[in-house]
Amino acid sequence: MRTCCVAAGALRVALIAIVASVSAAGQQGGGSAAPPRNASPANAPLESLHDLFIRFPLPPGQDAYADIEGTHLHRYVVEQADISRRYRDQGHPKFWGRIIGTSADVEDVAWMIERFKAAGLTDVHTQSFDLVPQWFPQSWSVTIASGGRTISLESAQPDYGAVATPSEGVDLDAVYVGLGSEADFAGRDVSGKAVLVFTMLGAPNENAVRRADAKGAAAILEVNMLPGNARYQAYPSGTKAPAFTIGHDDGVAARDVIAATPPGQSARVKVSLHTNRVSNLKTAQIWGTLPGATDETIYIMAHRDGWFDASGDNAGGVASMLGLAEHFAKVPRAQRRRTIIFVALDGHHNSGEGSAVGNKWMAENRQRLFARTALAINVEHPSTVQTQSRPRYYNANEIVWGNTYMPQQWYAGGPSRRAT
Ligand SMILES: [Zn+2]
Repeated sequence: MRTCCVAAGALRVALIAIVASVSAAGQQGGGSAAPPRNASPANAPLESLHDLFIRFPLPPGQDAYADIEGTHLHRYVVEQADISRRYRDQGHPKFWGRIIGTSADVEDVAWMIERFKAAGLTDVHTQSFDLVPQWFPQSWSVTIASGGRTISLESAQPDYGAVATPSEGVDLDAVYVGLGSEADFAGRDVSGKAVLVFTMLGAPNENAVRRADAKGAAAILEVNMLPGNARYQAYPSGTKAPAFTIGHDDGVAARDVIAATPPGQSARVKVSLHTNRVSNLKTAQIWGTLPGATDETIYIMAHRDGWFDASGDNAGGVASMLGLAEHFAKVPRAQRRRTIIFVALDGHHNSGEGSAVGNKWMAENRQRLFARTALAINVEHPSTVQTQSRPRYYNANEIVWGNTYMPQQWYAGGPSRRAT
């Protein structure tokens, strides 16, 4: 699935698409008294969001784990999101996050070291990696026009690694292909044109983006069917044509422009995308240890990087790792049957660059690293509250506030795992 992320090597436990919590059009409306009925949790006062969460009581006899507590760990999520937001506010308004190789990565490494030390881990150190030149979109714009009306699609976000346009951009006929199935394309010539298609980003769909590319589209605009106007950073499309995701509201407006185009004319789409490759960047993994009574090991890992706030993927994972570190650091060493090794992995959202170097290093060295390992946990977006998942979690045509936790895949079974 194109919009999946990949966790550490053989320890992959979950797949999820990434969605940014940029507020939707109309959700920041100039001080009106009544809150919008489908305001996203990101826009809500934090306390009220907490109030929505289900309180899971500890099972009888498990009181020793009461210190692994959600409200406390949530502070670590906020601190990581703040790192992302500082990077955003330092001149990266549209492509931001804890992106490896950036100053946000550097700040996150320092934060991680501090947190590991504060948790009581020993031998806290970094493992540095050189990155291959990294893709960064510098600037872009997408507009659609017909009959003297021009709309700027502000929510447009280039898929990771998207090919740039010529510096002057491209000016193309627009073609609307509905949901992008073969039937939707029937009778429509999309060659050399800008294709507008509606999809459920991150969920199974009609493979419309690749279909448009195979049919010769010159640009592909994939409209997110989630209500609102979210900016969505997709994984690489693998297309020859530059592909963008478009927020739902912008997508509907673009579709309306096409619908209003007089017969015999075409709406025109102008696309420009300037990118570059930045060399000599570095990233790092941070290690920490809780020595135990034996040399048997337990590994607890989580990747640090992510797009936008990256709260669900994967600040929550990092926070959970810290919660485990803090808890077991308080257990006397003699009662820690195994040595626990914590690894803050570098990242994977640049997986399209073939350079998820830390993950790769872990996989390549697995025989040595895990020779005495009883358990390895890769903490990958745990406890994500419903933000983006499969359509059955939506209510009609709006996102509802929810305290429903997303289903995730967990696996414990060592080499018995079936190859799929
Ligand atoms: Zn992830």
